[in-house]
Amino acid sequence: MKAAPTHAAAAAEFLKDSERSHWHDETLWHVRSKRDVSAQKIPEWEQLRTLASQIKDHVLSNLDNLLLQFEKKAQANGIEVLWAKDAQEHNEHVLRILEENQVKQLVKSKSILTEECGLNHFLEDKGYDVVDTDLGERIIQFNKQVPSHIVMPAIHLKKKEIGDIFHEHLGTDAGADDPKYLTEAARQHLRQKFIQAHAAITGVNFGIAETGGFVVCTNEGNADMGTHLADIHIACMGIEKLIPRAADLGVYLRLLARSATGQSITNYTSHFHRPRKGKKMYLILVDNGRTKQLGREDFRNSLKCIRCGACMNTCPIYRRSSGFSYNSTVPGPIGSILSPGMDLNKHSTLPFASTLCGSCSDVCPVKINIHEQLYKWRQVITKEGPPQVSKRWAMRFGGQVMSKPRLFELMGKMARKSLSISPRGFVYNSFNAWGKHRELPEVPKETFKDWYRKNRNHDK
Ligand code: SF4
Repeated sequence: MKAAPTHAAAAAEFLKDSERSHWHDETLWHVRSKRDVSAQKIPEWEQLRTLASQIKDHVLSNLDNLLLQFEKKAQANGIEVLWAKDAQEHNEHVLRILEENQVKQLVKSKSILTEECGLNHFLEDKGYDVVDTDLGERIIQFNKQVPSHIVMPAIHLKKKEIGDIFHEHLGTDAGADDPKYLTEAARQHLRQKFIQAHAAITGVNFGIAETGGFVVCTNEGNADMGTHLADIHIACMGIEKLIPRAADLGVYLRLLARSATGQSITNYTSHFHRPRKGKKMYLILVDNGRTKQLGREDFRNSLKCIRCGACMNTCPIYRRSSGFSYNSTVPGPIGSILSPGMDLNKHSTLPFASTLCGSCSDVCPVKINIHEQLYKWRQVITKEGPPQVSKRWAMRFGGQVMSKPRLFELMGKMARKSLSISPRGFVYNSFNAWGKHRELPEVPKETFKDWYRKNRNHDK
């Protein structure tokens, strides 16, 4: 099997189109700025973040009991609850439901969990036509791509490219890229799919242990369209998406949309409690590595994530290298913590795709210490991950030089000398990734230490 590219290699691919990378960076920074304005309008913003984090602490410490409470209440409401230990079991549950109910056509609203489980491919292989109904998801489904962002899946595409995709798949006018025109075309196309669908699959943003109900947030109302028209509703939920009480919901709803896009509330916050008369509702509770992450003391906080995407929008690495560079369902800083927990070898370069500036932790609405966990993963990977021979030798060498002042001085002298006489290609070549986009400052004639000895060291 072909090894997954390192983050740096995948990022270099995206960076080849420097205009797109620049524009991607600016677009996401704009979203981050909208988040700031929106957050600053709430005087109790920091208290909300603290509260959200504390409620999730409680959930993570009592997950077993809360899940059982949630299951019991949901079953009492007439929901069929299923448990899936991994992606395979999740997908098989969905397939069985579709087969038992003789479903031929289905629609799906945005669900990161079903992406994580590879549900679309699984069902397509069995002959099902899965229609993603979130506009961004539908665009990338047409384009045979995966989402590059968890909230804005097609953020890497420009208007003109979307116009071309719609022209090819929906027959819109060639060259037309007016968003209103394209959205209308998508609306007409999706209406038909909603009407024809026998089953609707949704994700779950919050499951409420106290009531057994759950909440799905969308900006387009596509989850509601799907579930209201289809006879079968299959909701797929990661087990960490629980909150204890309905009263806790307000805390998260106030944080979620503001952190994600700067909106004060998501357009559609839909509450589901029980199937409608004559219809069926299924809820699949998925582990897929979550209990393992819960058992890792240093990383369990990552399970507090409410998937707002704010850490991606602010991350200087994500903004320039796009979600594709992470080669993982959840990209960006939080993905770089979650993914190594699922497959350390495949994702061992992700925790290094960070400047550790801490901006991700600053914006996180549930106060996850993201940059600290990234740093922690680096330590784990250095000890347990795939060998990074060149890095290890470089560090060993650097450690030796820096721990011996005379050697350090000598190496500094040699480096200054050789830099001033070496041809440019000696420093700026394909082995020096740092030098691809940067210039070294002019080599100083003397070090600070030399200068200090001459000018300030009066004890001499
Ligand atoms: S880690 Fe925090 S900022 Fe990032 S997606 Fe999750 S909740 Fe949002």
